[in-house]
Amino acid sequence: MRVDSGCAGGQIYDDDSCDCADQFFDFISKYVANGEGIVLHVPCHDGRGFGFAPKAETEIYKQGGTGRIHTTKPIDTVSAAKLLYKADDYNYDIRDYKGVALILKELGCNDIKLYTDSRKKVNSLSDAGINVERIPTETHKSTCKQHIEAKKSNPLFFR
Ligand SMILES: [Zn+2]
Repeated sequence: MRVDSGCAGGQIYDDDSCDCADQFFDFISKYVANGEGIVLHVPCHDGRGFGFAPKAETEIYKQGGTGRIHTTKPIDTVSAAKLLYKADDYNYDIRDYKGVALILKELGCNDIKLYTDSRKKVNSLSDAGINVERIPTETHKSTCKQHIEAKKSNPLFFR
């Protein structure tokens, strides 16, 4: 299954700065199209749960510029998020998966294979008593290689 963190920028407006849409469509083509998978979509997870406007502001910092609070040289997405949200490696992502765990339990899904690179998704569902086997994502979007590398070098993500 895929727990899809809704990203308006990437999934609705085709923003090239993140790979959210690619991960979604990659999962659909590999699994759902073959009748093998389900997607549980969680809306409004933009900017790792901080929202669409803050995510847009991190894009300013990624390119080097002046936002509401800071001026930066170009920095990566994780550094931009931590700067804007005044966060560290472990709290710059405030997405929550308790509702996902409740839905899965209600559906009787206590053992899942999860297509993700997010340790937080795996750990949140495991902590809720769901057995999770992770399947690594395989997106390699060329327009956001630095974004993907920055994410995967953070402790909240698998390499
Ligand atoms: Zn995105």
